[in-house]
Amino acid sequence: MGMGNSEQECRHNSVISDIWFYIRFFKEHEPFVLVFGGAEIIFGAILPLFTIYLPKIAIDLVERRAVSGRALLVLGGFSLLTMLAGGLHKGVEAGKYNLYNTQRTNLMGLFFLKSLRLRYADQEAGENKRLHWKVYDAVWGGDWCAVSQMVRGTVDLCVNILSFLLYSTVLAFLSVPVVVILLALAFVNYGISMSHIRFEESLREQRAAAQKHFQCVENAMGNVNGAKDIRIYGMKEWMLGLRDQTIGELRKLAEMSKKKDAFYERVGFALAAARNLGAYAYLLYRTQTGSVSAGEFVLYFGAITGFSGFVNNIMSSLAILRGAANGTDYIRAYLDLPEENRKSGEGRIDSISLPPEITFQHVSFSYQNTEEGDKTVFRDLNLTIRAGEKLALVGANGAGKTTLVKLLCGMYEPDEGRILINGIDRNEFPKEEWYRLFSIVFQETLILPFTVGENLAMDRAERVDEEKAWKALEQAGLEQTFQERGIHIRSYMTKTMMEDGVELSGGQKQRFLLARALYKNAPVMVLDEPTAALDPIAESEVYEQYNRYTQGKTAVFISHRLASTKFSDRIILLEEGKIAEEGTHEELMRAKGAYARMFEVQSSYYRREAGACADVQI
Ligand code: ADP
Repeated sequence: MGMGNSEQECRHNSVISDIWFYIRFFKEHEPFVLVFGGAEIIFGAILPLFTIYLPKIAIDLVERRAVSGRALLVLGGFSLLTMLAGGLHKGVEAGKYNLYNTQRTNLMGLFFLKSLRLRYADQEAGENKRLHWKVYDAVWGGDWCAVSQMVRGTVDLCVNILSFLLYSTVLAFLSVPVVVILLALAFVNYGISMSHIRFEESLREQRAAAQKHFQCVENAMGNVNGAKDIRIYGMKEWMLGLRDQTIGELRKLAEMSKKKDAFYERVGFALAAARNLGAYAYLLYRTQTGSVSAGEFVLYFGAITGFSGFVNNIMSSLAILRGAANGTDYIRAYLDLPEENRKSGEGRIDSISLPPEITFQHVSFSYQNTEEGDKTVFRDLNLTIRAGEKLALVGANGAGKTTLVKLLCGMYEPDEGRILINGIDRNEFPKEEWYRLFSIVFQETLILPFTVGENLAMDRAERVDEEKAWKALEQAGLEQTFQERGIHIRSYMTKTMMEDGVELSGGQKQRFLLARALYKNAPVMVLDEPTAALDPIAESEVYEQYNRYTQGKTAVFISHRLASTKFSDRIILLEEGKIAEEGTHEELMRAKGAYARMFEVQSSYYRREAGACADVQI
């Protein structure tokens, strides 16, 4: 099993290559973003030019004493053109914003599909989970997310570079050497700004770490669940101390940043002042000598003043783009993660006899790149789960039960060996077909903020079969509770979307998941510790229901609690990835091995629990 790109391996692409990445994305999904963006750049660049030309035209007309109807028409026409261009600029800007915003949703869909094409093991790996969150933030983190910043920054950068070039061209008519000096000074400005940006970037990681630290402390202090511990263990001083320390760290960083900001601001100001004053002085000199008219004076004056603005804007756009490039790197790294090798065949599960027999043949499996290196769980495991058999998997924590289930249902692939269904290699079937075989209750509960029906069917509301949904609830022992609480198939679950959403207790959640598995009614049922949140009596009930409704299916269940095993045809005791004991309950008890010892210990515990329950009831 291989892991994908780790966070550390996340490639840092150049800003240009990141911009190119978005251009290709929009070209493929919504070329109008590029059309509108291009129009926005053109309007954004020529508008300022209009505004410095307009006074020149007016002054020229006054100077030539040519204030005729025709002159007024020229002036009015030009102003109208400026206004029109301004309006169009706003229009294309809004159009581009709407279009690319829609594309953010598209990107999220793309990530979802990508996540499903990953090997499950890669998706599950910690670093990829973190990468997934970063990607989510980069696309969905509000108007300031990386994608928005990248689009905005690119347009701003292009507008300002174009304006810079246009203004340089205008000034070249005044004097080429002046333009050369201005350009040289702009490069000096660029160098200084880049060193400022780099300094800020070097602080970013420290700031993020301090902020995270601060957030953790704040969360711990604000968490009502933790309030008990804070009081009992007298943690107040410690908490306050931690908070002061993290605030101190953040302040120190803010001070460092402020000092540098002030320094760079002064240098930038001095440079801009020297540049502008020099250029203004030269302009005045040329006006004095009569080689520049009043109208031209106003035009050049505006161009010199605007020039500084563009240089500054180019710098700030670059800083924004460099910041957003990090988020883009995460997006690109995620999209580049290796995908599952789908060498699976074309077979259809319906074409074989069901319930199936599933065989593990010489299966070996390791978790790779874990913190302690590679972790081998199974070496040459051979196991046949017979058609319609009820198999209980027991064993201590870490024995490999969950890993076995994940191999069984196709989340993991064996490193060596094969998994067969009715004697056919499972790779003869596409993965989706294989998944259809299983109804699984995993340990982690996934209840979505949708309706009861959608949560049972795991499908759109209109495709929910209400009768079947009630039947599944009844079989899982929830029908009565739901009816008493007035919960129906269209009631919303959880309080995430609806204030009056249905919340279930731990035990009810387990039953609900059982109902989901029953609704799917697949030929293989798997229950991974389904009763951890239940008391012994409810647990026993769930197993009875489970036994009743898995008739005619192949079934595997994992449990720490051995009470479950009395319903099974065969029990397998796993120890460190090996089948240590195997047989019926009676056989294993007679063998007086590890299973018998575990059963004895648990039975005495159960007897005590049951006694305690009885005491309470009396
Ligand atoms: P069980 O379900 O019997 O408690 P598991 O199948 O969860 O056992 O775990 C078997 C072994 O594999 C344990 O040593 C566990 O630490 C390790 N393991 C489980 N999941 C992972 C994982 N995602 N990455 C690395 N090691 C894992």
